[in-house]
Amino acid sequence: MEKVKVIGFVQEAWKVFQSAAFEINGVSLQVAFWDSEDFSQYGMDVLESMDDSVELIGLEEINHDEPIFCCILPDGMQLITNSVEDIIEQCAALSPSHDQGIDSFKLLDVNDVRPEPMYSKLWHQVESGEIEVPEFNFYYSFDEMKWAIPTGICALAGCDTKLLYFDSEQEAYDHAVKLTQDGQEPKIGEPCAACSAEYYD
Ligand SMILES: [Zn+2]
Repeated sequence: MEKVKVIGFVQEAWKVFQSAAFEINGVSLQVAFWDSEDFSQYGMDVLESMDDSVELIGLEEINHDEPIFCCILPDGMQLITNSVEDIIEQCAALSPSHDQGIDSFKLLDVNDVRPEPMYSKLWHQVESGEIEVPEFNFYYSFDEMKWAIPTGICALAGCDTKLLYFDSEQEAYDHAVKLTQDGQEPKIGEPCAACSAEYYD
């Protein structure tokens, strides 16, 4: 799998969830998705419990305005970084194959959905009416690792169907606006596969 795709995926997961477990090249890791508040809290907790053996290396280089990833690696090491690339490098160092590329990537688990996708700039601009509100919804599909626009609605349960996929949020938004300007809107149509299966069971 391409490295850039994995980086994009982890960054999107940061926007949506509060933590996740991944497996990269067979190395499994827990990642807490932090913003600057979480990071400051961590700093205070460490200072309070400060025993002199704790060394905080590189933390002054953390950019508070960027996503912060706090990873627990299988060897117990804790890595706090802005860079998904750093995380991939650490996994490569622990992986028996020692490959710099990514042979396998799995999302094992996600925890605690954020109350709103507060970190998506586009989402905020749409919500506030700053930019055009498309008739079509768009969101990140963790199954496909792409941005999705559902263009159909399952007649049985209202599920999203006929999904179009895009590599970036901007592309998905642009297409949703284009469809809207063309006078289209999501149409109720055929039931989705899951609902059909249940219905005819
Ligand atoms: Zn359905």
